[in-house]
Amino acid sequence: MKQSRRQFISGLATAAGGLLLGSHVRSEEMTQRVPILVYHRVHPDDDAPPVVPGQYCGHVVLSTFIRQMNYLRDHGFSVVTHEDLYDWLRGETDLPPKAVLIDFDDNRGAVYDNAFPLLQQYGWRATSFVITALADSHLPKMQDDGSGWYTWMTWKELGELRDAGWTIGAHTRTHPNLRKLEEAGRHRRVVAELRRAKEDIERKLGLTPLCFAYPEGGWNEAVEEVVGQFYQTARHWYETTPFRYVTRQTNPLRLPAQNISEHQSFAEFVAFVEQTAVRVGP
Ligand SMILES: [Zn+2]
Repeated sequence: MKQSRRQFISGLATAAGGLLLGSHVRSEEMTQRVPILVYHRVHPDDDAPPVVPGQYCGHVVLSTFIRQMNYLRDHGFSVVTHEDLYDWLRGETDLPPKAVLIDFDDNRGAVYDNAFPLLQQYGWRATSFVITALADSHLPKMQDDGSGWYTWMTWKELGELRDAGWTIGAHTRTHPNLRKLEEAGRHRRVVAELRRAKEDIERKLGLTPLCFAYPEGGWNEAVEEVVGQFYQTARHWYETTPFRYVTRQTNPLRLPAQNISEHQSFAEFVAFVEQTAVRVGP
C-alpha cells in the first residue's frame, strides 16, 4: 500500500513534471513570422509628391528608406527572396531568424534610381513586381505626370535588377483590379492579364516568374484559381493594421504583406518588423 502510494505520488510527480515539461516545451516553441514590406516608390527628400492625411500614399522619401534599411541591418534581420519563402513554405528549407522580404510594386523609376543602389550596397536582393505594359512604355495612364515623380523602369533596367539577383514578379499587364474585373463578368480579361504578364517577362527577361502580386490587393477565389494556373505564389497587400505575417501555415497563394509609406511612423515600422516570432499556443 505504502509502495503503491509512493508509486502513485511518484506517478503524479512524473505527470506533473511531464505537464511542466510539456508546457515548458510548448512555451519555448516559437513560430516564425515573416514580414513582407511593400514599397512602391522611394523619392529624394527634396523631390517627392505631397503626403495628404487620409489619402493613399505610395512612397517613402529616401531618408525614411535609409533609416528603415539601417534598422534592419543593425538589428539582425536577413533579407530573403520570394524563392526562399516558397521553399520554406513547402517545408524544404529553414529561414534565418528575423527573415524579412522587401517588395517593390509597379516597376517605378524611383526604385531604380534611389532604392536599388542602396540595396546593392547592403548586398540585399529585393523583388520588383512588374506591370509589363508599363515596362514596354505602353501604359500612358501610369506614365510620367510631368513632374518626374512617376517615371518607370523599362526592360533594360529590370534586366539589371535580374542580373543583380533580384526576383522579378508579375503584377499583371496593365494593372487592373482583378476582383472588380471578375465581378464585372470579364473573366477572359483576367486570364489574359495574368497570362500576358507571365509571357512578357519570359520573353523580355528570359525567366519564368514564380510570384504574382495583386494590383490594389484586389482578389477573390475565382481570380485566385486563375493565378494558381500561372504562378506558384501570390501576394496580397494591406495598408491597415493589424499587421499580417507569413507563417509556415500560410497558403502560398495568399501571402499577406504590409504597405510601407510616409503614413507610418518609424515606431510603427519597428513594431511591424520586430514581431517576427511569437509563442505557440492560445
Ligand atoms: Zn500596383
